[in-house]
Amino acid sequence: MRIGVLALQGAFIEHRHMLEALGVESFEIRQKSHIPTAFDGLILPGGESTTMGKLLRELELFDPIQTLIKGGLPVFGTCAGLLLLAKEIANDDKRHLATMDIRAKRNAYGRQLGSFHTRAEFKGLGEIPMTFIRAPYVETLWDGTEPLAEVDGKIVAARQGRQLVTAFHPELDDDLSVHGYFLGMVTGSE
Ligand code: GLN
Repeated sequence: MRIGVLALQGAFIEHRHMLEALGVESFEIRQKSHIPTAFDGLILPGGESTTMGKLLRELELFDPIQTLIKGGLPVFGTCAGLLLLAKEIANDDKRHLATMDIRAKRNAYGRQLGSFHTRAEFKGLGEIPMTFIRAPYVETLWDGTEPLAEVDGKIVAARQGRQLVTAFHPELDDDLSVHGYFLGMVTGSE
């Protein structure tokens, strides 16, 4: 199994470390030529969604990645990665890959709660640590999108088919279960 990690900016190396700890090979995608003809899944890391969206277009990665996701390549977006996948963003006029039927709210926790750490239930995984950094949440979901975790009544993880998003950063804690869940989506066991 080989998982590509979008490595334009943000917290991509941490995702590679999680995959390594799970014994899974990963590689970085920084330009079009880094997209192999066959691979098994894609991670869109946290960072800054506007910057990543702009770089995706400038580097001509936007169309091939969007086509792969629409074609069923399993994808896991964390934080800014969630915003890249959202079809709607409540408080931003930008749209990015827009493959997932969610409306996200960007920088949704205000200034005081910009960053925080908590523990909460994730469907099927039990209680796990969750680190939020200027995070979005999922305001609305539709068309077969399932909520997987909530914090204070707000959806912070969701899945639609082979697309998984978390508003928090599982790659910044030492709990491997969300990455394990994603790998289960890749192999078809989840
Ligand atoms: N606030 C960032 C954005 O709007 C996301 C933050 C993150 O990925 N940690 O893109």
